[in-house]
Amino acid sequence: MGSMQKHETNAEPRPWVLAEAAWHTVSRTSYDVAILPWGATEAHNYHLPYACDSIQVEHMAIESARLAWEAGARVVTLPTMPFGVQTGQLDIPLCLNVNPSTQAALLEDIVRSLSNQGIRKLVLLNGHGGNDFKAILRELQPRVDVLTCLLNWYTCVDPRTVFDEPGDHAGEMETSILLHLVPHLVRPLSDAGPGAARPFRVRALREGWAWTPRVWRATTDDTGVGDPSRATADKGANYFGAVTARISQFLVELARTPQEELYER
Ligand SMILES: [Zn+2]
Repeated sequence: MGSMQKHETNAEPRPWVLAEAAWHTVSRTSYDVAILPWGATEAHNYHLPYACDSIQVEHMAIESARLAWEAGARVVTLPTMPFGVQTGQLDIPLCLNVNPSTQAALLEDIVRSLSNQGIRKLVLLNGHGGNDFKAILRELQPRVDVLTCLLNWYTCVDPRTVFDEPGDHAGEMETSILLHLVPHLVRPLSDAGPGAARPFRVRALREGWAWTPRVWRATTDDTGVGDPSRATADKGANYFGAVTARISQFLVELARTPQEELYER
């Protein structure tokens, strides 16, 4: 399967995209940091594609790696993991679930491959709210020598600086970003449902200080959570630019910092 990143077919392979790189490039490049985009396959209201999360996270990773590469950091984007945790959507056709314990096993296999090959820094770029990697990294850390950092792209720049009402799932933020990245995959907004979510009846759950995973069908009728009606490609471009600039700065700093000098003295 090719990369989902829009890229001219007659352009040079990009050395920061592993899926495009040949051994010719890889054997001569000393990569400092690998970045692993992790998405999901799930319904996104009536108007966005099932790969929404994977498309966003892959573009974020590749563009951040490109910017970091231009600043001198040797970053390689690994192929995108397309399957996320969908335990609340098992009854929605073709929402494809991979359990957290399976993700832990997959991640450990990737990390051990990198470790054997001398790449000791990994950024796990997550693009799906149901993927919960903190507990997985806490368990993995003492077993491996690869510094693995977690970053959810949607938390590194406050979306309220760009969007009126960002939304949780297929709302204004995700719709805007897809309108910017892959407008041909976005159905007319007149096809979209309102993305209205039913709140919990129990107060603590509704206010968010007690938590239980949401049963998606009980929460929303159109699978969306968040109103997409004010989405625009311009908002998507603004936010995408801000997020990738921020991530690339992190990649550059991480590439430059030796593992044993991670903490201030
Ligand atoms: Zn999404």
